[in-house]
Amino acid sequence: MNMNEDFTMTIDGKAVTAAQTMDVVNPATGEVFSAAPDCSKEQLDEAVKSSRAAFKSWKKKSFDERAAFLKQCGDALTKVAPEMARLFTREQGRPVEAAEQEILGGAQWFHAIAEMRPPVHVAEDSEQQFVETQYVPLGVVCAIAPWNFPVNLAIWKIAPALLAGNTMVLKPSPFTPLCTLKMGEIFRDILPPGVLNIISGGDNLGPWMTAHPGFDKISFTGSTATGKSVMESAAKDLKALTLELGGNDAAIVLPDVDLDDVAQKIFFGAFFNTAQICVATKRLYVHQDVYEGLRDRLAAIAKAVKVGDGTEQGTVLGPIQNKRQYDRVMDLLNDAKDNNLTLIEGSDIPDGGGYFIPVTIVDNPPEDSRVVQEEAFGPILPMLKFDDVNDVIDRANDTEYGLAGAVWSKDTDKAMEIARQLETGTVWINQNLNLRPDTPFGGHKNSGFGSENGMEGLLEFMAPQAVYVARG
Ligand code: NAD
Repeated sequence: MNMNEDFTMTIDGKAVTAAQTMDVVNPATGEVFSAAPDCSKEQLDEAVKSSRAAFKSWKKKSFDERAAFLKQCGDALTKVAPEMARLFTREQGRPVEAAEQEILGGAQWFHAIAEMRPPVHVAEDSEQQFVETQYVPLGVVCAIAPWNFPVNLAIWKIAPALLAGNTMVLKPSPFTPLCTLKMGEIFRDILPPGVLNIISGGDNLGPWMTAHPGFDKISFTGSTATGKSVMESAAKDLKALTLELGGNDAAIVLPDVDLDDVAQKIFFGAFFNTAQICVATKRLYVHQDVYEGLRDRLAAIAKAVKVGDGTEQGTVLGPIQNKRQYDRVMDLLNDAKDNNLTLIEGSDIPDGGGYFIPVTIVDNPPEDSRVVQEEAFGPILPMLKFDDVNDVIDRANDTEYGLAGAVWSKDTDKAMEIARQLETGTVWINQNLNLRPDTPFGGHKNSGFGSENGMEGLLEFMAPQAVYVARG
């Protein structure tokens, strides 16, 4: 994959450039290394028009036919994964091996989602009448994705929406447009024109899309603040909406854990992808009996882990993905310093213009400090002590967010009891970050609503249609 090539949008099955381009920055150096088209309003109109036209025939294809297209997309992605991983690292920052895992995971997702079929409910099958409820596609989907998992989070929308019979216009984040544009290029040779249009653009494009009357549904993944704007914009045309938003996930560590066994898992549950994960552990509540032991183990891992350019051998954690996020995380770190919180810093970061921040553990800060209350979305992890389980459940739930959480204990019954009391869409026990195509994922409270993945996720792209047939 040539980094210097012209990246193109996919509109109506064709490669499309734009009058303007946007710079794409390598976060490991802070330098511009490529450019992506900056979609105009007219080009957005063309994309929507093409998806509307394609919907007429795409929805008439059988599930098996559409599934076959999805599987081809998955296979094509598998083939380019090693090459695409290098591009991924340049634009996103994550080390190459982990980047490839995301791309291969996306390919697998296409295959797994392709196997799903919506249910048909027969309410009555008598001499008088036959009554069934089936599910039908919604129309044209507006899909908007963030920069932290640019490939997977796009596929979480593409695969179910297309399987269900919808067509789509998808926009990646302006910070990570290249792999998504590349997917458009590959899939345009597989899918009929207009079924999947992929456009890239700056800060105007998202609001233009959510306000566009040609969409029937918006599937949005991003921050809670943006999610609120998206909802406001969707109200005008009463567009259906799925919102996958931010989180401030708590993990609760009970005193019976084997610290040597859990420390590494807890560390990467918090810091994988340089902690830029919606479901990363962002508040770590540890029972006072094991607090120091876990803190010292996490600190030792933080000291040993190599932070650097993801293209370099041995790098485990890359930079923060973009300057805006870097500034946000630095602001939180400076606030912690200004308030004299105790910070435990991990290994050195590279010099130069990259957006690097050292892995930082905040040692038992006050519950009301900003680093506890706000979603960091960067490598600063507050560790907090507790001694009473009921109290810690209240503290874990005392947040506007409700995305995920984790409980660590050898007593899985007790952990289950705690899990049921957490106000979140996902709870892990003795593991974290594990998500599956057949299991719904979504937030409670200000982490959004609706689901991705699982049957619930597929049905987000469909509407029930009841059919009553008179007999006799
Ligand atoms: P963001 O909200 O800044 O941007 C997300 C996307 O929305 C981007 O493509 C952006 O260009 C677009 N956008 C920005 N303003 C818009 C507007 N007014 N109207 C329409 N679109 C607009 O989020 P981000 O910084 O890219 O991503 C980080 C956030 O996403 C974090 O809060 C994280 O927790 C959340 N996230 C949630 C999930 C989930 O599944 N729940 C997954 C990943 C990330």
